[in-house]
Amino acid sequence: MHPPLPVYPQTRLIRADARSVLVTWFFLALSASLWALATMGVPGLEGAVKLAWGAFLLAGLVHVLLALRHRCPACKKHPTVQGFRAPHPASLGQSRAPGWAGVVVSVARERRFVCIHCGAGYRT
Ligand SMILES: [Zn+2]
Repeated sequence: MHPPLPVYPQTRLIRADARSVLVTWFFLALSASLWALATMGVPGLEGAVKLAWGAFLLAGLVHVLLALRHRCPACKKHPTVQGFRAPHPASLGQSRAPGWAGVVVSVARERRFVCIHCGAGYRT
């Protein structure tokens, strides 16, 4: 048995951050799908493509603003902001998604994550 993981001090922020990423991915997929349909000749989708793309950009901006507002207590870095360094090896197994996206998926699905910078684990 592992000892219980410590609770992330900014639980509400990282959960909102993870949700904002899921919304961002949704609108990215939606705008790509609508754009594909429009290029295949389905009429009247131009406005919907622009709306979905705008929603994608807005949700992405919300993610960036939220991501920069919480920090890992152990290393003081932002767990959903990845630089050019490879993620900490302890963070690789938390999701099939790599790096910061793995943090997002793990928070959304299991309410826990491993910091990609230092490998510290938290409950959210
Ligand atoms: Zn850390």
